[in-house]
Amino acid sequence: MGVLRKTLNWYAKLSPSHGRIKPPYEHVVQIGDPTLRKKSEEVKLDKITTSETQKTILVLKQVLHKYGSVGMSAPQIGENIRIFVMRITAKQCKEHSPEIIKSRNMYEIPLTVYINPKLKIVDYQKIICAEGCESVRSFQADVARYKAVEVSGLNSQGEPISQIYKGWAARIAQHEMDHLDGKLYTDIMDRKSLQCVHWDEVNICKGKMSIPFNPE
Ligand SMILES: [Zn+2]
Repeated sequence: MGVLRKTLNWYAKLSPSHGRIKPPYEHVVQIGDPTLRKKSEEVKLDKITTSETQKTILVLKQVLHKYGSVGMSAPQIGENIRIFVMRITAKQCKEHSPEIIKSRNMYEIPLTVYINPKLKIVDYQKIICAEGCESVRSFQADVARYKAVEVSGLNSQGEPISQIYKGWAARIAQHEMDHLDGKLYTDIMDRKSLQCVHWDEVNICKGKMSIPFNPE
């Protein structure tokens, strides 16, 4: 952490009115934030096209891109409303080895906005994979998820949409749906598999590193 950032953080703590901004945040809230534990409210139909809801959608997309994530839900940017976005880009697929892509059944999906989504299980078989969350920064754990699900809801214009997802996309959909109900993967993970993703780097740099809460 640089001197400048340390100073800025110190000032933010000193003056809460300066440090605190209103959601939607352009950062991702972390586990412990009460927003992550509340059941989010449905968006009323006549509210979908308002500038307020459209701003939340815009910020969700911006934060998703900024963090290079595959999914992001409104509670994660401080808003308890039932909206999430998901995507898997070709570039995100290519970041993994063919073995991982195959084991995860990872394929490209376009950026999709879901408002008031409903989830239906299509294939009850559960697949165990390591999973992370931007709200539990720097950790991952094994989580069992259904193999295929159907998500239906409304798009950003309030039009009905529905899609069947398999493999990794099905996992993302289940993970984001959980966020809307105040649940985190840590609630259902295999507890012994929980790991800090940087555990080896910590040894290599003799502990001289810090966890960023924003992409750098
Ligand atoms: Zn998450």
